[in-house]
Amino acid sequence: MELETKLDTYTTELLDSICKESQQEPSENVEDDIDQLYKTACEQEKTGPIVRLFSRLKELSEENRVTSLSRKQLEELAFKHQQIDEHMVSIGGRVGQALAIAENANSRVTEYLAEKDTQAPSGIELWGQIRENQKRIQKKLGMKDKDWNSFQGQIRNAVDSVEQLGELIDLPGSVLQDIARVTKNYRMRLTPYYTSLIMPGIVNDPVMLQSVPTGEMVDNAGIEIPPVAADHSPARLVDQFYPRVVTIKSTNMCAMYCTHCLRIAHIGKKDKMFSKEAYGEALDYIRAHDQIRDVLVTGGDAFILPNSMLRWLLEQLDAIEHVKMKRLGTRVPVTVPMRIDDELLDILEESNDRKPVRVVTQINTAQEVTPVSKQGFKNISKRVSAVLNQAVLLRGINDSSVKMWKLCETIQEAYVRPYYIFNCSYRNPQFVHFRVPVERGRDIVESMYGNISGDAIPRYIATAGGKIPMHRSNVVRGEGDELILRKPWNGEEVRYPDADKTEYEKDSFAFSRY
Ligand SMILES: *Cc1c(COP(=O)(O)O)cnc(C)c1O
Ligand code: SF4
Repeated sequence: MELETKLDTYTTELLDSICKESQQEPSENVEDDIDQLYKTACEQEKTGPIVRLFSRLKELSEENRVTSLSRKQLEELAFKHQQIDEHMVSIGGRVGQALAIAENANSRVTEYLAEKDTQAPSGIELWGQIRENQKRIQKKLGMKDKDWNSFQGQIRNAVDSVEQLGELIDLPGSVLQDIARVTKNYRMRLTPYYTSLIMPGIVNDPVMLQSVPTGEMVDNAGIEIPPVAADHSPARLVDQFYPRVVTIKSTNMCAMYCTHCLRIAHIGKKDKMFSKEAYGEALDYIRAHDQIRDVLVTGGDAFILPNSMLRWLLEQLDAIEHVKMKRLGTRVPVTVPMRIDDELLDILEESNDRKPVRVVTQINTAQEVTPVSKQGFKNISKRVSAVLNQAVLLRGINDSSVKMWKLCETIQEAYVRPYYIFNCSYRNPQFVHFRVPVERGRDIVESMYGNISGDAIPRYIATAGGKIPMHRSNVVRGEGDELILRKPWNGEEVRYPDADKTEYEKDSFAFSRY
């Protein structure tokens, strides 16, 4: 019992403030209230009543009021609190410190909690309306349930003309004319499923913004900076700017063509099937460079490849000794989740058993996460080593803290881990109207630290001949071995002694000292 005869500083300070002299007497009903709290705290073998009593007394002392309970009575309860608590947390630590810290933390999400479901509703929350949209679209397109629920049915009925679009979503004639002008140069293709995610009556619906091109695309198209592929492709289908990772652009097809597509030039205007010779040359390049350990199969969209093709490609990659892992880039789980059939899942698992497979997707708004896409991600996540998201920071789609937090939390709940947020590229003038200033992006990403789960926080990246992390340094200044760190969520600065550099530079440490 030796240990418990001493009260910690927090508790002593709390008692000092509660038991200060020369304070006003409490009124009678306050006194009754305190007596009742005191009685309960003594009777019960719980921490709660003790915390309630001390919290009330702390409040009173802040109003400069005194209690008739003696310091000794309170000390006894303080010991009792410490004895009951599994971690021997003191009443001073809990009431004087922890409760205020927790309350401050809670207050940082008040605004988010109030706004997230109205400002950034998920496809799960909007499911009722989406189902209504689906019924309307199915009827208009004459699609049976069987067609709707199959990948082939979705692709066969994909919306690629302005006339069709005008029948399915309510757009003013002038907008349709503009779209007609743009689609002479750029592709439009929405799966009926993706079309059903567009909310009627919302002018800049975030799903529509991503899939229906606007006049800005041609109006902005000034000087085209050559597509990424041109200056980073050392071999057919291959892009490389890192030693250990390369990409294979396995197809130019996507189920839906994004209005902000970084690969817009490469996507071109027509679907193409690539020959086995092309894949062969890409694989030869990878075989010949044994520093390459991670191969990213992108597109277009890797899941647009037929199952047989995907199986073959993964087998080829797995057979290369120095290739240790693969990534598959796909938006299919959000644009046409019906593609995720059992055979595809088996192919993923078989390859993942040989060497890790990660699926990298692109979800830009919580609205794209529906019960159907979530089920798709869940199925995939059981068969591969990770499912990651690369979002693009886009004006009107996810350029506020509320929208981005909601996106990151929603995808995490859908078995997908936020990985990157890309600043929208400057290379493609077609979509400058979607660009968001770097500082805003940085503020948005930094606003997540200390507020949402750490593994829901993506890294903020700008692509400029490689991916450049855009973190502001939180190291404010330092003198000698002492640093000052800034907490991104409230700007508070804390001392942080750095490692001892002299120690660090010594040749031997730990086991090497022997
Ligand atoms: C994005 C990309 C990669 C992968 O980068 P990570 O930071 O490893 O995700 C590799 N090669 C090319 C050409 C890329 O565009
Ligand atoms: S899925 Fe990717 S490659 Fe395909 S259009 Fe969208 S951004 Fe471009």
